Formats: sequence, C-alpha cells, structure tokens
Amino acid sequence: MLQNSIEPDEFPTGENLISSIYLSAVKFLYPLPLTETYEMIVNEAIRLVKAESGSVFIFENNELNRVYSTLPRKFQIQPRPKGFTHQALVTKKTVVVPEEKFSAIHPQIKSRHTKSIVLIPLTNRNKSFGVVSIGSKEKAWINEDKVNILTLFGSIAALAIVKARLNKNLEDAVTNRDLFISLAGHELKNPVTALKGFSQLIFNKVIAGEKAPLTWYQRLYNGIEMLSRLITELFELNQIRAGKIRYLFRPFSFGEIVNLAVSETKLIHPDNKIIVKYGSANHSDMITGDSSRLFEVVNNLLNNAAKYSPEGSDINVYYKIDKGLLTFSVSDHGRGIKKEYISKIFNEFYRIPGQKGEGLGLGLFITKNIVDAHKGKIRISSKPSHGTKFTVILPTKPS
Ligand code: ADP
Repeated sequence: MLQNSIEPDEFPTGENLISSIYLSAVKFLYPLPLTETYEMIVNEAIRLVKAESGSVFIFENNELNRVYSTLPRKFQIQPRPKGFTHQALVTKKTVVVPEEKFSAIHPQIKSRHTKSIVLIPLTNRNKSFGVVSIGSKEKAWINEDKVNILTLFGSIAALAIVKARLNKNLEDAVTNRDLFISLAGHELKNPVTALKGFSQLIFNKVIAGEKAPLTWYQRLYNGIEMLSRLITELFELNQIRAGKIRYLFRPFSFGEIVNLAVSETKLIHPDNKIIVKYGSANHSDMITGDSSRLFEVVNNLLNNAAKYSPEGSDINVYYKIDKGLLTFSVSDHGRGIKKEYISKIFNEFYRIPGQKGEGLGLGLFITKNIVDAHKGKIRISSKPSHGTKFTVILPTKPS
C-alpha cells in the first residue's frame, strides 16, 4: 500500500529495474563537481521514474536550502520549517506529498501545474543531510514502484554527494597547500633576508669597534616581529582547524591591551600617527574575555590599518562601553577595500589580488574566529582610495 512514509527496505526486485538503477549508479562513478552532481541526481531520478522536474535541498547551518532545481523559479519557494520536505529530512523516510494537500500549501506549485511530488531523504551514516524532490505534471503519476525506485536511488544520490564533497575538500586542500607553500616561501624570505643582512652589518660594525645605527636594530626587530607573527598565525590556524583553540575568560582592562597594541604597532610603523580615543572616559574599561586573544584582534586590525595605508597617515582608534557592549573601531586613510572583496577577506589565506605588503591572509580569519568565540560581531565600512573602518562589537560579559 502507498503510504505517506515508506521504509527504504520495501524495494521491489526485477531485472529491468536493477539495470536501470545500475546505469544511474555508474554515471556517479566519475568525479563530478557538486553542482553537476546535483543536476545529474535530479536528471537521473527524472529519467528513472518518468517525472518532469526536481530539486535538491541541503541542510546546512540549521537551514534546509534548495541548492539545485530544474525550475529556477522554484528558488522562490522555501521549504516550510515543519513541512513535508523537513519531514523527509527528519524521519529519513521517503515522503509522498498527498496531491490534495500540497497545492493548498504552496499555491505557486499548483499554478505551475506540478501535480505530484515525492521527497527522498539523503542520508549518510544514518544522518540525513538533504532531500531530493521529484515532481510530475500528471496527477496519478506516483505509484508504489516509483516510490521504491526513488528510495533506493536516494542512497546512490547521497553517496554521490558525499563523494563530490570529498573531492571538493581534496581539491581545496591541494589548492590551499600550493597557495600556502608559495605564500609562506615568499613571506618568510623578506624577514629572513632582513635579519641576515642587518645582523651581518651590525656584526661588522661591532668587530670594527664602531656603533651601528639605531635604525639597523629597528630593522632587526621588525624582521623578528614579522617572523613571529607568521609563526603565530600558522600555529593558530592549526588550532582553529583542529577545534583546539582554548579561551581563558577573565576580567581585564580593555584600555591596557589597546595601549600595548598601539605601542607595538608604533615600533613597526613609527611614521603613522595613531590617535586613541576612549568614548566612555568616566567609566571603567573592564570587560570579560581572553585578554591575550583580544590583544591579537586589536593588534591585527591596527597592524593592517598601518600596513595598508600611506606612511605618515593618521590611524584613529576609538572604543567605548555602553549598555553591556564594547564597541572598538580602527579607521585608516588607506587604499580601502572594494565591495566585491569585503565578503572574502575573512577567508583563510585570502589576500586581495595585486596586493602589496607582507602577510599570509590569515590575520582577519583569526580575528573573526576570536570575535566569534566572544559572541561578538565585526563590521567593515570602506571606500576605495579613502580608507577603511573595522568595528568590533563585543558583549562586555559573554554568557
Ligand atoms: P594579511 O596578513 O594579508 O594582511 P589579513 O587576513 O589580515 O591578511 O587581511 C586579508 C586581506 O584584507 C589583506 O591581504 C588586505 O588585502 C585586506 N585588508 C585587511 N585590512 C585592510 C585595510 N585596513 N585596508 C585595506 N585592505 C585591508
């Protein structure tokens, strides 16, 4: 009997059926990118049960989103939080949407003449991660055989998606590795060359009984600072990836870490003028958080402001505490960031193309992770050729 929910083990046997499904399965043996995999899943399902349309939904970040559809206008229709698509996802069972019901739920579907829909869960290791929906214009299109074929096909489709994801991860890992090797090689070269050159120069002076100019020591310090920053960033990237980063929350003075970061930045960028303003001067600047990690946040933003603005330009630092929130901002008069890059600069190893100035593209990735761990937010406003303002908003006592 055809029911609303059908267990996967009710699949009928038959040679034609097996060879048809086998043909589909073989197509997924070839490595395909994710979008092509979604497309092929829907097309194969349509072919297997003589349907007309289909979509793939993937559950990510607590949301079930349509990632592919043969009918692009269906992207306007979102699955309802407790609707049939979610039912297939949660119960891990194929769901046949009763014809008399779905047109009342989504009048858009009715007007577009979809008369029958089957929803197949996508599961991996007994966890469901998505749903394939297959539809037809015909009213009495769905029958028990078709449901069983689609249910069996669902496990092939799920494996195909898992495989495509693994392929993508592998490709990303190789790209990241290549990027890392070329970036790290390039970035390590500068400080090491400076360290080698200036230590040699200083050594020669000392041997000759002469004094070395202060700026040489300064260059030596800058080289060491660059190296230690690179090492810290790589170490933290590893910790973040492994989910091993530990936070020690306790009360501390935010002003103190601002002052410390300002003096460090001045050592490396002595020509920039850093103007600090505390907007709640009459109140305590104590907040609860991991002071050394938040120091990194302040330091990264200040360092970037100096790195990506002209020498000698002003950098404004502002912070205030109001209604349980700390607002901290760093504004520069530098090159700015074009709109299209703004959403990317928090990605690991991302650097804006054609970028001058040293860096691995990890500072903002780490910064955002630290801010997230403090239940805070980070915002950017930027105007190319005019400057950039990064604002961090943190609860003064994260729960
Ligand atoms: P990096 O170590 O390369 O500076 P970040 O993660 O700190 O890495 O920054 C990512 C990219 O964002 C930088 O390479 C730079 O292109 C851009 N960026 C960051 N801060 C600024 C800024 N204040 N002004 C202009 N561009 C910036």
